[in-house]
Order: sequence, then C-alpha cells, then structure tokens
Amino acid sequence: MTPSTESLIETEYRLGAHNYKPLDVVLSRGEGVFVWDIDGNRYLDCLSAYSAVNQGHCHPKILAAMVEQAQKLTLTSRAFRNDQLAHFYEEIAALTGSHKVLPMNSGAEAVETAVKAVRKWGYEVKGVPEGRAEIVVCSNNFHGRTMGIVGFSTDPDARTGFGPFAPGFRHVPFGDLDAFRAAINENTVAFLIEPIQGEAGVIIPPAGYFTAVRELCTRHGITLILDEIQTGLGRTGKLLAEEHEGIEADVTLVGKALSGGFYPVSAVLSNSEVLGVLQPGQHGSTFGGNPLACAIARAALKVLVEEDMIGNSERMGDRFQEGLKGIRSNIIKDVRGRGLMLAVELDPAAGGARKYCEALKERGILAKDTHGDTIRIAPPLVITGDQVDWALEQFEAVLRT
Ligand SMILES: *Cc1c(COP(=O)(O)O)cnc(C)c1O
Repeated sequence: MTPSTESLIETEYRLGAHNYKPLDVVLSRGEGVFVWDIDGNRYLDCLSAYSAVNQGHCHPKILAAMVEQAQKLTLTSRAFRNDQLAHFYEEIAALTGSHKVLPMNSGAEAVETAVKAVRKWGYEVKGVPEGRAEIVVCSNNFHGRTMGIVGFSTDPDARTGFGPFAPGFRHVPFGDLDAFRAAINENTVAFLIEPIQGEAGVIIPPAGYFTAVRELCTRHGITLILDEIQTGLGRTGKLLAEEHEGIEADVTLVGKALSGGFYPVSAVLSNSEVLGVLQPGQHGSTFGGNPLACAIARAALKVLVEEDMIGNSERMGDRFQEGLKGIRSNIIKDVRGRGLMLAVELDPAAGGARKYCEALKERGILAKDTHGDTIRIAPPLVITGDQVDWALEQFEAVLRT
C-alpha cells in the first residue's frame, strides 16, 4: 500500500529539519502548468518553484535533452573539458549580450561568485585599498541563504543567530536614489540589487529609478549587479527585467529557470572586466558547468525563446493582472506585478495570506503567501488564456467580499 499524505508528512516532520512550512499537499507528478498530488487531485501551480519552472513542469524537450545527455556523459569536473560547455557559453552569451560567463549550480552560489569577483575587480582594476571594498545592497533584499548572503540580509529570520558575518556591505532602501547616492564612496565597488524584489512581496521600484542608478554607477565606476535569478528568463514578460528599464547591468545573475526546473544551474553573466579578474584556482565548483547541466540549460533557453514563452508571459500577465484588479473585494489592498510575476497584497485586517492560500488549494490552485499579507502568483509561462480565466474565477471565489 502506498503511504498516505498524513504518514508522509509525519515522516518528514519527524526526520527532517523544520526549515520550511509547506502547504500540506504531497505532489507526485507535474505537466505544464499542472501538478498532481498522491491522491490524484490536480492543481494549477501558481508558484512555479519560485520561478524555476517557467517552461512548465517536465517540459518534453528539456526532458529529452536531459535523458540524452545523461546517457552519454554527466560530470567531468572542470579539471577536464566537456563538449557542452562551449555551446552553452555561446548560446547564453548571444541571447543575453554578455561577454563572459561563469556557470555555477544554485542561485546563492552565483551571488557569492559575483561578490568575490567584484571585490577582486575593485582591488585590481578600480584600485580600492586591499580589504576596503564596499558593496551596496538593499533593505529587504533576498539573494539566497549562504553565510555571506544572510550576513547582508535585513530579514531577522534569515540572519538572527547565524553571525558573526562578513563586513563590507552597506544598506539602502530599495527604490531610494538619494540614499544610494549618499552611500557611495571611493571604496564602493558594486551595487547588488534585484530588478523587482520578489521575496519581499513583488516590490516594483519607482519609474526612472534604474536609469538613474545606472548613470550613478557609470559615473562612479561602480559595477551594477542585477540579481535576475527570479525576474530573469521571461518571468516579467521580457527575457531580463532590466529591459523594462532600458538599462544594461555590468553583471547579471541567472539561475532557477535556467534549467526549467530539472537541475540546479546558475550563471554569472558579465562584461569582460569583472569576470576577467578570476585566474585558475581562484574560484570553482565540482558540478558547475558540467555537461548534463549545460545540455539541460541549452534546451531550457531554447524552448523559452522558440515557444514564445516570454511574449506569452507579457500577454497572460496583463490578462491575469487586469482580472485580479477587477475582483470586488475590500480585503485586497493592492494588485501589482510585471508579466507573470504578480502579487495580491491583502489588508492586514484580513488575518494573513496563508489561510487564503489554503482556501485556494481546496479549489485547485497552489499559491504561496509571502511576508504575511501578500499572495504571490507566478504560474509557468506556458499558461493559456482559458487557464488564466479559470484561475481568476478561483481567486474571485476566495477573495470576493
Ligand atoms: C531564489 C533566489 C536566489 C537564490 O537561489 P537558490 O537557488 O535558492 O540559491 C537568489 N536571488 C533571488 C532574487 C532569488 O529569487
């Protein structure tokens, strides 16, 4: 007999660390925008594994590329070369207009890599005195969970109890240009920022903010590092969210959907200068750039473009956002988003977003509450108009007052 939902949850609770509090649904299958639990109930996935499955669950072409490569060669380490890496470099560089690529695995590793590279760039190219490099980051940022990263988080849950932390970071409020200007000094090597703050609740900066940030960075010789691990690869209706602002970052971080959810693949994309400072032996990863990861990422990028998922994200995002804005409800405080990166912020008096996510689950929608009062909505980019309309009916049923 297959174990029940309750017994699987009990086992997880007994044996696992309690570092997550998932919705109590145990999934065993996924296809496109849908996932199924072990009892056969179907759900529309409105989280997409935090935007890692932009291409939809178990995309057949990515799956085929994975199986084909897994039968040939999976891992060589970077001690030897493999026949996939150069193609991956070429394709991602052409697509994003980058000059150098450094492949890693998780998003957090890409962030750590960028921090290391940009500090070294600061000392070797910008001429900052050794040990004095400063990186400006934003309040309420989310860049991952490693020691270096939680050290510059402002979220008490993320950092309390985990110190001591590495110095060299300065905080400014997201979207506040004057604060950024004031934080700059001769030792500032980089500004690390998300184009839209995802985990903070899909926070969109004021119009013109990034144009001005770009100008300040250029004028002061500061590397602009955009963390597009969540916003990138079609999520906001553009390949990269920077396109909404008409700017180009010096360093761009991608991850999550870079594999379409099949495998952890991330990358640092940069101009020649910043990644150019890294010499053999100074940075690496056993799995980074392995042939299986490269083959999967190549297929994941290919279907994203070939199947017009980016255009679909823009069109379906507009339709979804408009529909959400049309729901008559006195508990909805705000509806916002770009492309299919959407959020409904509830009035604090509504008693928190979690119970609405539970109610949505009963109606066949999986969505995630974030920061107490916000429901984040980010379905796979392959969602159709009919599926958006059906989802809107469920949201309306749960949120209408
Ligand atoms: C998810 C995320 C990360 C971290 O990625 P992991 O693969 O979980 O390490 C970093 N930055 C942003 C903006 C993210 O959304």
